[in-house]
Amino acid sequence: MSTAVNRRWLLASRPEGAPVVENFRFDEAVLPVPGPGEMLLRVIYLSLDPYMRGRMSDAKSYAAPVPIGGLMEGETVAEVMESHNPDFVPGDIVLARIGWQSYGLSDGSGVRKIARGSVPISTALGVLGMPGLTAYAGLKNIGMPKAGETVVVAAASGPVGSAVGQIARIRGARAVGIAGGAEKCAYLIDELGFDAAVDHRAPDFAEQLARACPDGIDVYFENVSGKVFDAVFPLFNQFARMPVCGTIAFYNATGFPEMETIVPALMRAVLTKRLRIQGFIVYDFASDYPDFARDMAGWIAEGRVKYREDVVDGIEKAPDAFIGLLKGKNFGKMVVRVGPDSIDE
Ligand code: NDP
Repeated sequence: MSTAVNRRWLLASRPEGAPVVENFRFDEAVLPVPGPGEMLLRVIYLSLDPYMRGRMSDAKSYAAPVPIGGLMEGETVAEVMESHNPDFVPGDIVLARIGWQSYGLSDGSGVRKIARGSVPISTALGVLGMPGLTAYAGLKNIGMPKAGETVVVAAASGPVGSAVGQIARIRGARAVGIAGGAEKCAYLIDELGFDAAVDHRAPDFAEQLARACPDGIDVYFENVSGKVFDAVFPLFNQFARMPVCGTIAFYNATGFPEMETIVPALMRAVLTKRLRIQGFIVYDFASDYPDFARDMAGWIAEGRVKYREDVVDGIEKAPDAFIGLLKGKNFGKMVVRVGPDSIDE
């Protein structure tokens, strides 16, 4: 332990457009020492998520940006190494937001214990964690799919989209996934049981989507925006719902693209089709967590929800993996394996 160093990634500069490796600075520091009430955590898995692009920018948003020189933010699965907190003992595995580093301190606020069980502990960052809850709560509170309805979701092979499609099917709806490339589309149908899948990179994407939704769209779970939304918009049925969860097509944009505005057409459709559009941040529905945790664990055990992780080994690879995530290079929930599951490994 005394020879261990804390390896971490700091924000070196704010990206202009897509982030590049130079926006991050690698740093090695001595291990932090826990004070009264605190514990020292060793990171096992670091979650990489699209929202981190927003934290790199100082544009006004729902959360404060990471300051220049500050530690990149992120959720981790970690092991308690030393504890001065009565609620945790060394050896506990916990979910803690301690960022892009190999060790960190916590006073226990917002930290949750994770039981080792039939699923890997890394799933606490994906299907059983924040992205899974996002899908569950966005559908339950806003999308509200009914049996026989058509639910469309993009970024469909990722942790949010894959859960949206599978939960929609559990609710008796028809699930149509949109993903980048033939391999991801085949996975949606063959492994996850989606009813149809459409490649958003296909030149005739809009036509393919219309063919995949012969009865129109009742729920569009918006993860992407941009061209995908343009293709979805004409297909909305009366009383369709659109939970707005993410707009990843624009996360690297430095401003809004110059295009003819669709606002009048959108407003007309909202009125005449009585569309319901509501943005949400997963924490708006934190009270759904206990129901989510119970339902999702059950569905996984029954084989009704499947998940896929894209695990990169080594914290030094975090910036590249994150840059790739924004371009769709990940296939499944993107996590970085920062250290071994057990220090005996
Ligand atoms: P993913 O692991 O699915 O990764 C993002 C995916 O987005 C990429 O793999 C890529 O998939 C797709 N993508 C990127 N750019 C485009 C584009 N221009 N057009 C179409 N697809 C694109 O991410 P998550 O499941 O973690 O997150 C999905 C969405 O949900 C994001 O927008 C995220 O910000 C949002 N989110 C919102 C939360 C909230 O509280 N509101 C909480 C959690 C997530 P492909 O190869 O298929 O194109």
